[in-house]
Amino acid sequence: MKRYSAFAIAREAMRNHTGWDRAWAKREPKKKYDVIIVGAGGHGLATAHYLGKNFGITNVAILEKGWLGGGNTGRNTTIIRSNYLQDPSAAIYEKSRSLYETMSQDLNYNVMFSPRGVIMLAQTQHEVRGYKRTAHANALQGVTTEWIEPARVKELCPIMNIDGPRYPVLGGLWQARGGTARHDAVAWGYARACSDMGMDVIQQCEVKGIRQMNGKVVGVDTTKGAIDCDKLGMVVAGHSGVLSQMAGFRLPIESVALQALVSEPIKPAMDIVVMANTVHGYLSQSDKGEMVIGGGTDVYNNYTQRGSFHHVEETVRALVETFPMLARLKMLRQWGGIVDVTGDRSPILSKTPVEGIFVNCGWGTGGFKAIPGSGWAMAELITKGQSPLTDEFSMFRFREGKFIDESVAAGVAH
Ligand SMILES: Cc1cc2nc3c(=O)[nH]c(=O)nc-3n(C[C@H](O)[C@H](O)[C@H](O)COP(=O)(O)OP(=O)(O)OC[C@H]3O[C@@H](n4cnc5c(N)ncnc54)[C@H](O)[C@@H]3O)c2cc1C
Repeated sequence: MKRYSAFAIAREAMRNHTGWDRAWAKREPKKKYDVIIVGAGGHGLATAHYLGKNFGITNVAILEKGWLGGGNTGRNTTIIRSNYLQDPSAAIYEKSRSLYETMSQDLNYNVMFSPRGVIMLAQTQHEVRGYKRTAHANALQGVTTEWIEPARVKELCPIMNIDGPRYPVLGGLWQARGGTARHDAVAWGYARACSDMGMDVIQQCEVKGIRQMNGKVVGVDTTKGAIDCDKLGMVVAGHSGVLSQMAGFRLPIESVALQALVSEPIKPAMDIVVMANTVHGYLSQSDKGEMVIGGGTDVYNNYTQRGSFHHVEETVRALVETFPMLARLKMLRQWGGIVDVTGDRSPILSKTPVEGIFVNCGWGTGGFKAIPGSGWAMAELITKGQSPLTDEFSMFRFREGKFIDESVAAGVAH
């Protein structure tokens, strides 16, 4: 595959862009693969990528029922940070954040990583205590964050009203190397790299059944026929419960809709990301100028991949006190994704009761930031049966009571 470069762009400009290859090959499934990954979201594609890159396993198919990146990966508000409280979380999220730093070069694909800085606002005394505690934990974990006072918050984000009256800003947890990236580009960049290694990215191919023999996986039944495999990675976010039912076990996952919306584009107004967890709202400005706004999850389980008016109203109503200028903007679009939430708000990267089946899910409302780190760790788990980054994230921790409680850091925070 041709490398993308400034020279290649100039060359193609001279010949009317007739020389570009397809970014990834369009393939039909083979009879058998060493590894099948179900789900061509960011986590599935990154898992496949690191199987090839780190372990030389390239006889891999990534099966996607829709289009690649069409699940939560292409629907999120793209916030990247690693300021989590618990050590296992900080380890995998910081690995991920550091991989984002070089992702464009590693994949030879511009994912527009923008480490513009993320503030998590403290608007109650409870949050002040919680974020100060997280700042101390991050210092011990080697994750660079700092507690900042209200005046510094105002300096970083002048459009913010920090005086209340209902939700005065009491300070914030600031991660200067947090930020955003272009979500579709992350999926496309990984897909292109996987295809380049000879892997098959197969879209419009829904897995309908999982075949086993003597407690071991042997293949899947799909809308494009039966395909055999030695190992299977289930990486389907909000559909993890559906897939695990096909495999004959249950996962401690609840699927709920999470929504976001964008305003009309305006001139540059804020150059950082702000999360206001007390009011369940978070905000950044896209390169096009739209204010990107995320809200909370639905309070009931569902599989609806769409937005709803009451959430838009609640989210914007809550945010206008802290960002009064939002009141003057028209909202352009809203949408939703189906997120997979665990009881302790931490992910599952695990072996399962069926030999050869591995599961990666439970990223809930905050897994975009984790894509490269999760793929890196999952590839190691699938290859070696163990990874230091996944040891604590087994699905069996719920049975054993070994929770990784991130409900403060990740309940509805992105
Ligand atoms: C509105 C919203 C805002 C968010 N904001 C942020 C944020 O700011 N920062 C952050 O870090 N995270 C955020 N998230 C969460 C983040 O988007 C997800 O955690 C992450 O994208 C999950 O990626 P994934 O690859 O696991 O899942 P997905 O991208 O959902 O991919 C799973 C894929 O599996 C496919 N699939 C399902 N069933 C089958 C089947 N039977 N056969 C074949 N394929 C199947 C689906 O079609 C889908 O494409 C947000 C999510 C939403 C919805």
